Amino acid sequence: MSYLDSKTPPIRELRHPETALAHGRTRCGQGPKKSVCAIMAQADRSFTQGSICPLLPALGIMCSLPETVVLMHGAIGCGSCANGSNVNVRAGNAARGQAGQEALWLSTALNEANVIFGGEGKLAAAIIEADQTYQPKVILTVSGCLPGVIGDDIDNVAQETQSQVKAKILPVHCEGFKSRFMATAYDVVYHAVGRHLLPEKPLGPKDERAVNVMNVGSMGLVDEKEIARLLGELGLKANFFPVFANPDSFALATQARLSISVCPTHDDYFLHHLQEKYNVPFIIRHMPIGIENTSQWIIDIGEAVGQKDAAIKLAKKEESELNEALEPFKPLFAGKTAFVSAGEYRSLATSLLLRELGFKILGIRAFHFDSFAEVELAKLDRQGDFIFNVANVQPFEEANLLKRLKPDIFLGHWHGNSTAARLGIPTQVIYNSGYAYMGYQGAYDLARRVHRRLAHPAFYQRLGRYGVLPYKADWYLADPFSHIREDGDPTPKEVR
Ligand code: SF4
Repeated sequence: MSYLDSKTPPIRELRHPETALAHGRTRCGQGPKKSVCAIMAQADRSFTQGSICPLLPALGIMCSLPETVVLMHGAIGCGSCANGSNVNVRAGNAARGQAGQEALWLSTALNEANVIFGGEGKLAAAIIEADQTYQPKVILTVSGCLPGVIGDDIDNVAQETQSQVKAKILPVHCEGFKSRFMATAYDVVYHAVGRHLLPEKPLGPKDERAVNVMNVGSMGLVDEKEIARLLGELGLKANFFPVFANPDSFALATQARLSISVCPTHDDYFLHHLQEKYNVPFIIRHMPIGIENTSQWIIDIGEAVGQKDAAIKLAKKEESELNEALEPFKPLFAGKTAFVSAGEYRSLATSLLLRELGFKILGIRAFHFDSFAEVELAKLDRQGDFIFNVANVQPFEEANLLKRLKPDIFLGHWHGNSTAARLGIPTQVIYNSGYAYMGYQGAYDLARRVHRRLAHPAFYQRLGRYGVLPYKADWYLADPFSHIREDGDPTPKEVR
């Protein structure tokens, strides 16, 4: 039985029990002997400053879908992160020639009375209103914590309301309290898409040129163009899913000869489904960020489509051109240090790229860690010591670490660079869908931006002089990982 036969997808804690949220230790160059995840997964924190609700990345994907209404079913605050997603949606639509098109999200704004008497009626009325007002192809009815707690049945509401509306209704189960791992978000969205937007059988015969490329919310059109360019050199045509994919286009995924992941922790749920149900094989190794990673990624694809030699030739040519272009930047990078913070795969792959550019990596903070990324961590382990922190945000640990390590540059998500900046550390964003990060083009672009930051640090120096962080002086003297309990007991030390 497939996971997709059930109304609700399993949470990551059940599907990948080795997934970890808390870790802080120096990697000492030996590489993992067994599964590092199995050890890390037991750990927890006795104090936690923040967390990431899976709704955040799920909304990032859902809000990008054209001709779609995202109908949040929950408390009004649940949808608020869609305002942040809208920046990406607006920019992504403008890049695709649809300037002015924004994310379309609504909320049932459940109140106290709905908590007592149930919110299903309100959801049904909102679906009908959304259909009449916006005439979308799809309405995603997204369950937050509240309906999950009071027992609203969003699948039943969808079924009963479907005959009254033109749009296809897709129930999405994203109750934040169910999972502590934001990666659950990807499965939740793929579950809804897989159950409701794919045909019962492949749409038609296999298209030997077509490959599915699973994109992520943190990559923009510029990255898609680079990937399409590289695949085009092998005679392949890339169809990108799920971000910014029209609901009608998902059916094409069943006809492709191959599915390709750009972020393994993002895609395994859907790729297994495409293989099991539609016989579309997949590759889920490496992220095309970094020079060697990109080459390995394209060579793997070449091998899968019977063009390994052509892919090796392509990688060699691209590497040689890129290395020549990077030469002017390297004198400034030599001996400089860096700290990288992002999702697990992105943080590790970006660190590999920085090492290729001549940086020494002092620390990496990944939002979670699972078995998909062990191979990436092992690549870094072979090249020297660094601190590896697994933290679903926890800026207090980051502030302590940065104050000790004093890296020359910090690379992090757009909403996560302020701690470093207020400590006077130059920062470079590694999540801006208007910038290039992937492939050979992305390596060059990131090097160019980092070079500019390091060459002109005055802004950050001034911020460091006047910036204030909310932590007491004695926190900076404490062990940054003193709240991490490797045995998983979250009880604070002093209470035990
Ligand atoms: S944790 Fe629950 S209530 Fe909070 S944003 Fe996520 S789904 Fe909504």
